[in-house]
Amino acid sequence: MLFSEIAGQTTIKEHLLRTVREDRVGHAQLFSGGEGSGALLLALAYAQYLNCTQPGDHDACGRCPSCLKAAKLVHPDIHFVFPVVKTSGKIVSDDRIKEWREMVLRHKYFGAGDWFAKIGDGRKAGMIYADESPEILRKLSMKNFEGRYKVMIIWLPERMNLTGANKLLKILEEPPEATVFLLVSEAAQTLLPTILSRTQQLRIPGIDAGVLTAALVKQTGCDEGSARVAARLARGSYVQALKQLEAANNASVFFEAFALLMRSTYSRKIFDIMSWVEQTAPLSRDELKAFIDYATGMLRESYLYNFKQPELVYLTPAEEDFVRRFSPFITEKNVERMAAALQEAYAHIEQNGNARIVLFDTAIKIVPMFAA
Ligand SMILES: [Zn+2]
Repeated sequence: MLFSEIAGQTTIKEHLLRTVREDRVGHAQLFSGGEGSGALLLALAYAQYLNCTQPGDHDACGRCPSCLKAAKLVHPDIHFVFPVVKTSGKIVSDDRIKEWREMVLRHKYFGAGDWFAKIGDGRKAGMIYADESPEILRKLSMKNFEGRYKVMIIWLPERMNLTGANKLLKILEEPPEATVFLLVSEAAQTLLPTILSRTQQLRIPGIDAGVLTAALVKQTGCDEGSARVAARLARGSYVQALKQLEAANNASVFFEAFALLMRSTYSRKIFDIMSWVEQTAPLSRDELKAFIDYATGMLRESYLYNFKQPELVYLTPAEEDFVRRFSPFITEKNVERMAAALQEAYAHIEQNGNARIVLFDTAIKIVPMFAA
């Protein structure tokens, strides 16, 4: 990881570079920052810089053998400890190193939840188990292969159990030579006070909204307006910004699908109904359920609009426009029945019903409700 690949965080990058320039690289540093702040990436870039054989003033060279290995997370002197999910027996970080490399290299920014979903069913949170401590000691006792520094990056040390944390403390008290511990924490306040007192704490702030907006446009190719909204809602978290952007995209897909369902059933155009089914059926089961909830909500909004309820502020302009024009056709005579038809569809989707059949069936049920 190069510093230049990380969104924003200019002050932190400058600070880290300065520690190397002034030859005061602390042997135990705590990078404390919220999810999606880029704290882990900063630790990776720092580790690469520390071992780069041709470092520039602002970044590692990215080309020397050390950089090439560090970039692929296979540098023999850069070690990783992270929470893993125990199913049975002993498990340590190295058992999941392949998944770890995939996760970091493919996503760069990710949260603990994303990681636990990758290595487990997502319901069980991972831990750094006590079995990890002998592994850390073993790796530290090895001679440095090629790097100037041996770096031990510990992601989410707050997920270490007490035995493990106490063992880590012992190591931090008597650090081996030319070893740098980088603890990357999202909840530093929950770490043992004794660990806190033995590390130099570096607070990583959220990513500046302007920087985040530009990074989102660059990464996803979305328009700047959507990126700005997502960045603002994300409060400095790259991970949250991506989720906001995805949710916004879903909402616009849902809106198009809802509008087509209403128009095609109202006008009784069977080919339009069929193309609605074709467009909507490929959604995943979870997406279909979310769509049905969305459609039910939009029906309610349309009905309430007849009474000029002022709560429409959270609709997008396109949604509000549709609701305004469509509300005369949603009345007390059909709103409940339409909602019931949608809820029935929800239940059938949940019971693994064939999406095409369920959707077609639902649309056909809705058609006569407009006449009522
Ligand atoms: Zn290099």
